[in-house]
Amino acid sequence: MFTVQLHRAHATPVASGHPWVFAQAVHRVVGGKPQAGDEVLVVDPQDKPLGRGFWSPDSAIVVRLLTRQPEVPLDAAFFGKRVREALATRKQLDLPNADTTGYRLIHAEGDGLAGLIVDVYGDVLVAQFLTQGMARRRAEVVAALREALSPRAIVTAGGGAAQAREGITEESQVLFGETPSVLRFKERGLSFEIPWGSAQKTGYYFDQREHRAEVERLARGREVLDACSYVGGFSLAAGRGGAKSVHALDSSQAAVDQGAEFARALGFSQVRFERADVRSELERLRSEGATYDLVIFDPPKLVPTAKHLEKGRRAYRKLNAHAISLVRPGGTLVTCSCSAAMNETEFLRMLAFASHDAGRELCVLRVGRQSPDHPLLPGFSEGSYLKTVFAIVR
Ligand code: SAH
Repeated sequence: MFTVQLHRAHATPVASGHPWVFAQAVHRVVGGKPQAGDEVLVVDPQDKPLGRGFWSPDSAIVVRLLTRQPEVPLDAAFFGKRVREALATRKQLDLPNADTTGYRLIHAEGDGLAGLIVDVYGDVLVAQFLTQGMARRRAEVVAALREALSPRAIVTAGGGAAQAREGITEESQVLFGETPSVLRFKERGLSFEIPWGSAQKTGYYFDQREHRAEVERLARGREVLDACSYVGGFSLAAGRGGAKSVHALDSSQAAVDQGAEFARALGFSQVRFERADVRSELERLRSEGATYDLVIFDPPKLVPTAKHLEKGRRAYRKLNAHAISLVRPGGTLVTCSCSAAMNETEFLRMLAFASHDAGRELCVLRVGRQSPDHPLLPGFSEGSYLKTVFAIVR
């Protein structure tokens, strides 16, 4: 067993609930030289155990703790228990249910399984392995998932930049069962079928489920813009909520084609999808004098890590100023950031600047977070990545 001892100055955050050990926090490693993905025990300068995790020598975060119980090995039994706990948590959240069969089952740190994401699409599971340690435990993860859920198939999705930071490159592959042709699921009674080949991330964004319900309540009789719509989670909710019109924009042709097909199948002729780049399209709409009663703006992560904060902040500010300008006086803005590296305070501050740039005033009604099937750890603010601001624009 390898033991990772932390520097005095760096042990406190870990002791007080933060699950990440940064490279500079490590004072010494006892017991030899761990290989990528080896299990390690993390201890404070007095040798008091802080927890166990996997060693990621290529990452700035060399260990992510999976348990605070030093005597619990990270073996097959541990994975089985964690998956059962995660499933029990979703049952308490009434997931799945007759109307919602797509949800997040494993949300990395929030479920005590840092480095692992698992989303459920009916009887198909899509996993992302985001650390060296987790990537090495595929067999244990698959066994635990099969035992707990008896799925038809388990597939992996590439994890993009998060995997690259760990030195992992992975194309999607089948771990169990057969490759699904589509991911089929329901969200709040709306049916989705996403071709597996063209899916983003694991396939869909479950974290906005509750905000879509709120948009549905707000939509009646309104003219709606859904910028960065993906396959139309917000647009279809607005359509069902009785929107007068919905204009959905996304840069992905596959996403807008898919969204248009859903709208057609539902008979929502007032919902139209268009391929467009928000970096030019919002400004173009503004220069044309277009306005809406409700503007939803849900861009991809513009601040991937803390070192991109300044540049990302500028991008958010510019795009949000355009989005704000498109809202009629007294209308509603729903603007989102999924950048963990930009916290809620910074996001609201950016919005204050953006509304100033647009010459408008914002009255913030609420700041929503990711839905509870994406749970948080206290003491780990990075886990709270999604901010969805509902504001009146005056
Ligand atoms: N609102 C969606 C999720 C959006 S995720 C939902 O509720 O499901 C971010 C989306 O932004 C992705 O679909 C991506 O294709 C799109 N996107 C990325 N860059 C873009 C750009 N420059 N212009 C328009 N869309 C973009």
